[in-house]
Amino acid sequence: MSYATTAAVCAPPQPAAVPAAPPARASEQPRDRSSWLRFSPAQPLFRARAAQRLAVLAYHGITDPRSFGAQLDRLRRLATPVSVQDVERSLAEGRPLPPRSVLVTFDDPDRTVLRHALPELVARRIPAAAFVIAEVIGTEQPFWWHEATFLARHGGRARLLPTGGDPARVLALLKALPDPDRRRSLAELRVSASRRPPAQEQLRPEDLRALREADVTVGNHTLGHPSLRRCDAATVQAEIAGAHLALTRWLGEAPSAFAYPDGGFDERADTVLRQLGYRLGFLSDHRLGPRLPAHPLRISRLQVDSTTSTRRFDTILSGLEPAVQRLLGAQA
Ligand SMILES: [Zn+2]
Repeated sequence: MSYATTAAVCAPPQPAAVPAAPPARASEQPRDRSSWLRFSPAQPLFRARAAQRLAVLAYHGITDPRSFGAQLDRLRRLATPVSVQDVERSLAEGRPLPPRSVLVTFDDPDRTVLRHALPELVARRIPAAAFVIAEVIGTEQPFWWHEATFLARHGGRARLLPTGGDPARVLALLKALPDPDRRRSLAELRVSASRRPPAQEQLRPEDLRALREADVTVGNHTLGHPSLRRCDAATVQAEIAGAHLALTRWLGEAPSAFAYPDGGFDERADTVLRQLGYRLGFLSDHRLGPRLPAHPLRISRLQVDSTTSTRRFDTILSGLEPAVQRLLGAQA
């Protein structure tokens, strides 16, 4: 599937592949295996139903600016782009958002969001939201999951991880560890690997202000992007409140929107978010939601990326592809 590597961290597990096309000879394999869904008789029904729902798109970094631009053109033509403030206003007034409302969001934004996504958004006057990992802002620190796989590939060892393990398996194990163990294991990988990972220039505080000036709301995505389910209550508090403080300092105002780093709801995080005055919280559950969110701190999102083909993009927006994925996931 075309989700970015980062999506594997943000989002709960999705079925490993897009739905398989009806049986076809190998020579007839379509280029985009999900494109046939667009011609499904169910697609018009799903599209009509989706017009009455809120679609929140969750992107990560932008690797294909042209394709991203084409997706935004499609949104301009077929949907009603809305902002975080529009969603907050609709909740405050108890009035559903307009039909076909779509909110564009980015998790773990890197410099490609500033360099590639922002000009495309501004050119079409489409608002968005970016949920940042506070700990890496202003640094050259790679995202921890990229760093961990690099270190594992270069001989990194940790007491709680298998030696010489497949980097993908090391990452999966790291994600499953209680958070203090994840951080400790990462530190052990750093001192034992034969090479340091290449630096990754991250967004700087002034970039966050530039995003906001261009109608991209900057939101909280925790300090260090742990799986909150693997954190104790004190760490959940520290991860959210620490990022809240940093963002408030950089932006001069408190953020009001949060995205779960592991994509799933957490009751303890919900309590912290309420105490800090958050108005919106976003999941990564690959679903559409109501135009007047019933649970403002649990708003569904659809997983997309800039390389998603237009055909597949249409079936994700309509909710058909997510419904088929859920069906296949339930059958697996
Ligand atoms: Zn994330």
